[in-house]
Order: sequence, then C-alpha cells, then structure tokens
Amino acid sequence: MSVTTSNRDINALHPVAQQACRLFLQECEKAGVKIFITETYRSQERQNYLYAQGRTRPGKIVTWTLNSNHKSKLAWDIAVIPPANLYDVVTLNRAGAIARKLGITWGGDWKYNIDRPHFEVKSSWRAPANDTVKELQRLLNKIGYKLDVDGLYGPATTNAVKDFQKVNDLTVDGSAGSATMAALEKATKPSPPTVAVDTPKEVDEMAQQLPDTQKKDMKNLLEHAYNTRGKDGKPIFSVNHAPKVDTMTRGQATDLLISYVARTAK
Ligand SMILES: [Zn+2]
Repeated sequence: MSVTTSNRDINALHPVAQQACRLFLQECEKAGVKIFITETYRSQERQNYLYAQGRTRPGKIVTWTLNSNHKSKLAWDIAVIPPANLYDVVTLNRAGAIARKLGITWGGDWKYNIDRPHFEVKSSWRAPANDTVKELQRLLNKIGYKLDVDGLYGPATTNAVKDFQKVNDLTVDGSAGSATMAALEKATKPSPPTVAVDTPKEVDEMAQQLPDTQKKDMKNLLEHAYNTRGKDGKPIFSVNHAPKVDTMTRGQATDLLISYVARTAK
C-alpha cells in the first residue's frame, strides 16, 4: 500500500483492536450514529509522510506525532457518513461517548491535541460484560454453538458470529449488527412441536433398519445430515424432511439419504 492511501481494513488491526473496533461499530449502529472507518493500520512510512504535511511539505498539519498507535495496529479513525459533514462534531461526540462506555480511548477526550475522529485501545483491552452479548451467546448456543454465556464479546463469540454470517450469506465481519441479529432470531424461533428426529438416538434407529453392510456408512451420513445446517441455521434434515422415523422402511431411509445427497451436492 502506498504512503498516500489509507488502509481501512479492520482485519489489519491487532486482534484486540479488531474486537474493540467491531464492538464500537456495532454499538454506533444500534444507537443510529452513522460513521465509517477511514483508517486503521498505518505504516511508519505513511506516518512519516503525514507528519511531513504542513511541516516540510505543503498543506495543513494532520498529525502531531511520528509515533502513532495506528502504527501499533491499536488505533482507528472514523468520519461521519454523508450527507452530514464528514467531521460533524455532534456525531463524533456521540461516537466518543459510546467508545468511553466500552473502555475505548477517544481522541476527543485528550487534553492536548484533541483528535475527535481517533480511537484507540491498549492490547490489554477487554470488552465489558454485557447482557446483550449474553443474549447473543444464548441464541448462538440454541443453534449448536458452544459458547460460554459470559457477556464478553471475545474471539470465540466473534468466530461463532462470523461462521453464522457465512452460512447465512451475510457480510462476514464478526459483528452482530441488525441484519445478523434478525437472521439469528429467525433461525432460533422454536419449530412446531412435531416428531423430533434430530437426535443421535433416532439416527441410530434409522440406521438399524438399513442393510448390515451399509449400516456404518449410512449412520455416519445420517449423522452428518442431521448436523448440517441450512441457511436458516436449522438442520438440513428437519422434521419436515423425515416425518415418521419409527415407521420408516429401509427404502424410505434410502430415499431420504438420496434426497440429502442431492440437496447437499448442489
Ligand atoms: Zn488516528
């Protein structure tokens, strides 16, 4: 990346700063604070280039240091989404208040060299425990993730969210924004109380009805089928696909497997 272009990729930050930045963006979105990232990691070369502006190079001074936390991958800058002014103070102040609550350092709080678009964390930063995160973890656990319900938006929760987003064709950013939460709530709605078939016990029973030579393979396949989740986060084999396990014949079980293979081969 050349010294004249800014890197806006959150993934370029230190893992702790990635987590802080995503949580910050998520809380801003929830609060209707419309901002976007303008820069994350900055190389020393780019820092030197920016420092030269207004000093040895024409232009307005844009930085006060040669030793920024952007270089340490622990800082990010934001701007306000148009049509508002890019550096609209009211919006930046609201973002600053959100950051403060999350234990993120805001440049607007600095006594000298106030820098409202700037946010940073130390590598020892930890997300504050939060009931919304606990609820998110409970919902994810409902569809098979195994998270500690501790209210901390740590790497395990971030990865579970990313995985869920991937399966559901959502933007994979690890941040539980409104689209992700809507999909998650839809996926975790209780299904109608019909025959429950998605347990290993029923898989076993189904496999018992199959020819001896195929039992082991079929059982593995069935288990895989029951553990595979569709775009809605539910098992591909729901009760709708296998309504009558106890009366299922060998032929029906085979048909079920054939339809499974056809569905997953797409
Ligand atoms: Zn900055």
